Amino acid sequence: MKRSRSARDEILAQLQQFAADQPAPFDFHVHTVWTDGQNSSLEMYQEAVRVGLEVMLFSEHARKSSDWFGQFAEEIRALPKLGCAALIGVEVKALDFEGNIDCSEEILEECQLVMGSVHRFPGEQGIVKGTRADLDPEEIVDTEFRLASAMLDNPAIDILGHAFGMCYRRFRIAPPDEKFIALIEKAARTGVAFEVNAHYHPDPWFLIGACRKAGATISLGSNAHALGDVGRILRVLRGQEPPWNPSGP
Ligand SMILES: [Zn+2]
Ligand SMILES: [Zn+2]
Repeated sequence: MKRSRSARDEILAQLQQFAADQPAPFDFHVHTVWTDGQNSSLEMYQEAVRVGLEVMLFSEHARKSSDWFGQFAEEIRALPKLGCAALIGVEVKALDFEGNIDCSEEILEECQLVMGSVHRFPGEQGIVKGTRADLDPEEIVDTEFRLASAMLDNPAIDILGHAFGMCYRRFRIAPPDEKFIALIEKAARTGVAFEVNAHYHPDPWFLIGACRKAGATISLGSNAHALGDVGRILRVLRGQEPPWNPSGP
């Protein structure tokens, strides 16, 4: 399947129709046992059907060297058709302040939507956790902002994944609202959807309001790694589950 601009725009137009008060039954952030998820794509798909999703994006992690991606895409295409559209996607990480991403052309071409996320600072290797004694909180916010902002200029990116997720989860820093709004306004200008993420964002409705004000397309994501996570962003928005509490565990 070749990645076509018109197919992508059609999906993003659907997202744009996010109704005034009711979140569309979409979940655009799902992982599986292909990477760090706990369940197979079939199990995650069946759960999506069970909780009433109409569209889901398998946003699997991949990097330039992920030679299995074609098989993964084939598996998603072969899922049963049970009333929920299953889209093939990838979550790629930002590499630098120029908007480059750790992904091959082959993988991009397999995908219906490409999500770009900040997972680490340039130069960090492997799984990184913990603080950076060399940076103060303002510099951390600014660094994540610049990495995210640069990806918005990369035409391969369709969705900006969990903006400021690293500030919130790794560094326990709440970025100022103006920084979020600046990213959202730029996402609106560059035609990239802005993800509202159940795992990383403590105030999803604030972000939805800011996206609407700026005219940015909203992408809803649960960051699902297990069955119980599928559709979680919708339950949070409907008040059925609490949003993430940064002062909790
Ligand atoms: Zn991520
Ligand atoms: Zn993810």
